[in-house]
Amino acid sequence: MGVDAVTVRVVVAREAAAGERRVALTPDVVGRLQAAGLDLVVEAGAGVAAGFPDADYEKAGATVVPAGSGLGHAEVLAAVGLPDVSGLRAGQVVVGLLQPLLRPQLMEELAGRGVTVVSLDGLPRTLSRAQSMDALSSQANAAGYKAVLVATEHFARYLPLLITAAGTSKPAEVLVLGAGVAGLQAIGTARRLGAVVRAYDVRPAAKGEVQSLGAQFVELTSVGPAAGEGGYARALSAEEQAAQQAELAGHIARHDIVITTAQVPGRRPPELVTADAVAAMRPGSVLVDMGASELGGNVAGSRPGEVVVTPGGVTIVGAGDLASRLATSASAAYARNLTALLGHLVADGELHVDLDDEITAGVVVAHGGAVVHPATAALLHPQPSEASS
Ligand code: NAD
Repeated sequence: MGVDAVTVRVVVAREAAAGERRVALTPDVVGRLQAAGLDLVVEAGAGVAAGFPDADYEKAGATVVPAGSGLGHAEVLAAVGLPDVSGLRAGQVVVGLLQPLLRPQLMEELAGRGVTVVSLDGLPRTLSRAQSMDALSSQANAAGYKAVLVATEHFARYLPLLITAAGTSKPAEVLVLGAGVAGLQAIGTARRLGAVVRAYDVRPAAKGEVQSLGAQFVELTSVGPAAGEGGYARALSAEEQAAQQAELAGHIARHDIVITTAQVPGRRPPELVTADAVAAMRPGSVLVDMGASELGGNVAGSRPGEVVVTPGGVTIVGAGDLASRLATSASAAYARNLTALLGHLVADGELHVDLDDEITAGVVVAHGGAVVHPATAALLHPQPSEASS
């Protein structure tokens, strides 16, 4: 299919991160993109690892071009994680889950090159009209579901109560630490497999949500509520964290499977499970650390992308990449989120950046030569009071 001059062309390349299987846009959304004035250009092979061959894109009306040649054909580069941005020119747009708070200097460099940067991480998620664009939630749902399945692969017992002629097996006890979107999905999945599930979070609002899924809420007496801004948790002080770790250790030791999902925006994931807590777990227990990344994780000794078995026989799965391991479903959901966002930003064959619009202001990080996203700009140019705090 030809490329039309009055439409905005969006290119999708194979994801840059090693091991990443997702793809930003799927054949399923090509029609919706076209209805919103966007043509899709796909680099050959970009969707294969997620289960979407080139032929499916072509059948849906996208243009397939040789790998590495897409940017020359397009105004928008769409990605899941941070793509190769070296070839981006002034006037082009890059969109993805780009984690600008973790890489403010790169954002400034792209702004200086005249590139517009749009990151789905900044979406105002509680706004009802933004819900169809909420890629953090769709990917957290995929990851939380997969976390339970990964745990079962390393766990040598049944999860449900089983009464058979060969005897009774008692249900596995699963503890979920962090009950946001991923944690709640993990709770539901573990419950459906018949486990006894408990969960803990620092946000008091999580209690009712945990209980509504049929799990028990674990209350800690040593740490008060720690709700932060926008529905997220705040970072704990060093004293609070030490108290939390000490009190959690007893709960962790009593569980067979522990799934950790705790995150604080723009920070390294908090350590919830110390080396001592791991050592106190029974042999055969499994920890799945969804916070595992190069920045560290929720579990001492977890390594991203690796499975570590401790001398005490406890398996620690470093699993920061779980959405990628459910690549077809995660990509399908991400593609719908991204299509909804692009539909919001593009009109009459152009990208409109209206920073008075709450959604646009949340997602546009760099535009018109400057970093316009306040939280990212604050990291680049801290005010004297912030620099000293
Ligand atoms: P997240 O990924 O930032 O963090 C995961 C969980 O870890 C959170 O529940 C957080 O409270 C918890 N956590 C952080 N530090 C912790 C600690 N030290 N100990 C224990 N737990 C800790 O969170 P998320 O899943 O992205 O959700 C964040 C918030 O956004 C939630 O309040 C969620 O309900 C809300 N949300 C609302 C909507 C909506 O209104 N449509 C959509 C999505 C998310």
